[in-house]
Amino acid sequence: MLVEVKKNFETLPLNYSDPILGIAQRYRDDPRNSKIDCSLGVIPGHTLDKVWKPPVVERLLEVIHSKYHQSYLPILGHSGFREGVKNYLGSPLTVIQTLGSTGALFLAFEFYRSYFHSNIVVVSTPSWPNYGQIASKNGLAFKEVPYLTQDLRPNIKLYLEEIDSLLSQGKKVIGVIQIACHNPTGIDLSLEDLREISSFFKLHFPNAALVLDHAYDGFVPFSECKERLNTIEAPHFCCYSFSKNFGLYSLRTGALCVNFGKEFSDETLRLENAFKIKIRGEYSTPPALGAEIVAQVISASVNEWMEQVDNKRLEIEKMRQTFVNFLPKEFTFLLNQRGMFLYIPGSYLNRPSHDVQENLIEENAIYTVAIGKDLRINISSLKTEEEVERVATAVRQYLI
Ligand code: PMP
Repeated sequence: MLVEVKKNFETLPLNYSDPILGIAQRYRDDPRNSKIDCSLGVIPGHTLDKVWKPPVVERLLEVIHSKYHQSYLPILGHSGFREGVKNYLGSPLTVIQTLGSTGALFLAFEFYRSYFHSNIVVVSTPSWPNYGQIASKNGLAFKEVPYLTQDLRPNIKLYLEEIDSLLSQGKKVIGVIQIACHNPTGIDLSLEDLREISSFFKLHFPNAALVLDHAYDGFVPFSECKERLNTIEAPHFCCYSFSKNFGLYSLRTGALCVNFGKEFSDETLRLENAFKIKIRGEYSTPPALGAEIVAQVISASVNEWMEQVDNKRLEIEKMRQTFVNFLPKEFTFLLNQRGMFLYIPGSYLNRPSHDVQENLIEENAIYTVAIGKDLRINISSLKTEEEVERVATAVRQYLI
């Protein structure tokens, strides 16, 4: 009997190591004092056991934590959060509180699959490695198209041609676009690219349905992020993360903004009900604490928050400059990358990226992440010039 039952377990995976979170776990288990973590996309605080938060968030967290007792939130989330995010993001039809932007991406895919019969997600690669897992969890096929040309520019024509070809085969496609600070390349689409994407998806909606992923608001100037978002006129979902710019990683605070345009405003109630059904069956209601913090900051202290994120952005930009100063002259192109990662394409490495990742861990206690053929280094983790020099010098041995 037991043997029979055990047969069911044979198909369960014996090993699972996430390409990014798996490296972070190895860092935690590493006993060496000299270890440096440049793997996860997390901005550390003064001490390594804490993440950086804008001081305005830090202050509130202390106040709220001690007196926060509440019953369940509504299914679609905290009303002050939803209202505040709605005003901040230029009045989408509705805003739904989600479990980080990962949760927003999950719901966006699930919505398009169930209601618009989408069956395939197309992402340009290299990209955030989790998109494929979210797609497959929703029973969607997943296709990757190269993101960059040989000269490291986004190749948006190739991306749209691929989607066009899938549409002509009768497929219904979900396209995912990162709006700023592209993870992992740091190379963003131009405004012209975004306009082209917008026209394409506007023409083909809903057979081609667009999802914007916005996990790094403020890590290029806020005004530019806004301009980028405003360029998209096609109906879309915008999946917004408060993990980095509020430091709320573990409180899982994100938003799904429904930007289908005014012509669909009479459908808002149906849209909200559709999401209520999905959420109730998935995790019932969202958590309250992160949403309360965002609601308070975004309504009463938005300028203070923006200024603090802006200062952090400038600090990271300075780190990038310092890092590149320690590399040979041919690597000044890394200065054009934006966001928290320094991204070294495989063609600039003298051995496979996975070997570089492993050698840096074994020999230098430095944790970076191999993504495909390339190497991603979180430079926001580096606190002092000495640390930058140590990491840059170790990485330099693997550059061509
Ligand atoms: N999209 C991208 C591009 C990301 O880098 C991340 C986080 N690393 C996410 C989505 C998910 O963010 P969250 O913590 O809000 O789920």
